[in-house]
Amino acid sequence: MLKPSNITPDDLGEDVKNIIPGKDPELSISLPRIPVLETDITSKIIPVCEPTLGGNEKKYVNDCLDSNWISSAGKYIPVFEEKFAAECGCKYGVACCNGTVAMHLGLAALGIGPGDEVILPAFTMIATINAVTYTGATPVLVDAEPRSWNMDVNQVADKITPQTKVIIPVHIYGHPVDMDPLMALADQNGIFVMEDAAEAHGAEYKGRRAGSLGHAAGFSFYANKIITTGEGGMITTNDAELADLTRNLRDHAFSTERHFWHQFIGFNYRMTNLQAAVGVAQTEQLANFVARRRQNAALYTSLLKAIPGIVTPPEAEYVKNVFWMYSILVEDEFGMTRDQLRGFLAKHGIETRTFFIPMHLQPIYYDQFKGQRYPVAEMLCERGFYLPSSSSLTSEQIRHVVNMVERAYNETHR
Ligand SMILES: *Cc1c(COP(=O)(O)O)cnc(C)c1O
Repeated sequence: MLKPSNITPDDLGEDVKNIIPGKDPELSISLPRIPVLETDITSKIIPVCEPTLGGNEKKYVNDCLDSNWISSAGKYIPVFEEKFAAECGCKYGVACCNGTVAMHLGLAALGIGPGDEVILPAFTMIATINAVTYTGATPVLVDAEPRSWNMDVNQVADKITPQTKVIIPVHIYGHPVDMDPLMALADQNGIFVMEDAAEAHGAEYKGRRAGSLGHAAGFSFYANKIITTGEGGMITTNDAELADLTRNLRDHAFSTERHFWHQFIGFNYRMTNLQAAVGVAQTEQLANFVARRRQNAALYTSLLKAIPGIVTPPEAEYVKNVFWMYSILVEDEFGMTRDQLRGFLAKHGIETRTFFIPMHLQPIYYDQFKGQRYPVAEMLCERGFYLPSSSSLTSEQIRHVVNMVERAYNETHR
C-alpha cells in the first residue's frame, strides 16, 4: 500500500520550518462537511470563495435532462468549447474533466516523457507540477519575482538545457505573467509554452487574453475558479493539430476509421454535457464576474491601504488582473503574524486561505529538490493569504472584512 512521505516541517531545517503555515484556524461556526442549505449557518460566515450561479445554468441543465443528453456527447460541449475559446481569443477549445488533466493532456499530446525537462514556477498549486510528473518528465523550478508574484521570467534562461521541451508559466492569482520576453526566449530555443491559466479566466496581457498568450493553455472550472462547471477543464490553442490530438486522447484515442483500434495510449478525460451546459451559462457571465472581481479588489485595496503592514495585490500597468483570489501579504509592521491574523478573522466568521507552499518544500517533492532555495516563493509562503474573494461578495461584506483586519491591527498597537 502507498505510504505518505513522512517529511515534517521540522525536517526542512531551521531557516525554513517556520515559514510553513500553522494548522488552519477553526471558524467561529464550523462549516458542515456535508453542506446543508440553511441560511442561518451560511449567513454567519463569509466563505473564502463560492460559485456564483445567477444565469441560465438551471435552464441549460434542464435542457440536457429533458433531452436525455447527459453524458459526454451532446450539443453543449461544442458550444462551450467554441464560446470559451472565443473569450480567450483562441480558435480551438477542448473541454475535459478538470484543470489538472487539461495540463496533462497538453503535455501528453506533445509526447513529453522521461528524459524531458519542463520548466515551471516554484510558487504554484500542486496540480501544475503533478501534471508534469504524470508524464515521467523532470520538473525544473524557477523562483517567483516580488513584483507580480509570478515566475521570474529573467531566471528562466539559466534553467534551459537541451532537454527542455516545455515551459509552463502560471498566471498566479489572476495576474498574467510577463509573456513577451518569455515567448521570445522560448521561440529562440524551440520550446513549447503551455500556460497554466487555471486562475486567469478573462485576464489580459497587453490587451490579449490569458489562454492565447502561449502556444496552448490549460484552464480549470473547479467550483472556486472565476467560472465553474462544478468540475471541469479546457485546453485552448490556435494549433489545429494539437486541438485534434488532445480531443482524440481525452476519449481513449478511439480511431476514426475503426472504432476499437488504438494508436495511442488515450485517457478518459471527458467532460459531460451537463457540465458543459453550466459552462455555457457561466461563460455568458464571464465579463460580469471579471468586472465585479475588479471592483471588489479596488474597494479592498482602497480600504486596506490605510493599514500599516498590509501589502495589497500587484497589478502591472500592462495587465488586467482578474483577482481570482484577493491576496495580501502581512509584514512585520502589522504586529501579528499571518497565522495570528487568520486566527483572529476565523474567530469572527471570516474564512481565509494561506498562499501556496512552494514545490521544493512539499513533502512528496522534497528529495527531488533537496538543497534548492527559492527565496521569493518562500517569502510569499510565509506572509501571504487570501481574503474572501467570491464574485458575489457585497461591499458591506468587504467593509466588514477590512474592519476586522483593522481591529486586529488596533489590538496589537494599544
Ligand atoms: C485550480 C488549479 C489547477 C487545477 O485545477 P483542477 O480543476 O482542480 O484540476 C491547476 N493549476 C492552478 C494554478 C490552479 O489554481
